[in-house]
Amino acid sequence: MQETRIPDIHIPEPERFRSQAYLDVLDKNSSEQTCQIETTAISAMHASAERHYPLEACGLLIGRMQTGVWHIDEAREVPNLNSERAADRFILDPDAYRKTDRELVGSGREIIGIYHSHPDCPAKPSPTDLSAAWDGFAYIIVSTCNGAAADTRCWALNASGDRFQQIDLQDSQTRGD
Ligand SMILES: [Zn+2]
Repeated sequence: MQETRIPDIHIPEPERFRSQAYLDVLDKNSSEQTCQIETTAISAMHASAERHYPLEACGLLIGRMQTGVWHIDEAREVPNLNSERAADRFILDPDAYRKTDRELVGSGREIIGIYHSHPDCPAKPSPTDLSAAWDGFAYIIVSTCNGAAADTRCWALNASGDRFQQIDLQDSQTRGD
């Protein structure tokens, strides 16, 4: 579902997304890695993104990481602590992170990524997203337009850790596993 978008929805692209600073965030080389996500997790993430529109929603992506493939089975919303700039920045609640992390100990599942929404902006990472990114994590961005999820893309840091590479996002149900 890489590049998926609902037809006829125009996703605005503010000028800054065409600036060099934004272009420098993206690695043009394609990644060998894939991200498989359960339909229920996609639905939860989209509902969360739509509920918070026109503000940014954020949450944890939970599942298993196996040989370069992220298997996400749950998207769990957590509070965005950035009330001042909640339209274009998110600060994921560290207490919610720690609580979930503790809860998952011994379960075989762990936090393997983070999602957030981009209200009326492309599902592409910003320089701020890059500066906050962790190695080995999957970053899913949901573009919300007029209150509806319009595009969903997955990103991860490249091998040198200086740019985001787009990761092929696959619905695990449609693959039959
Ligand atoms: Zn962002």
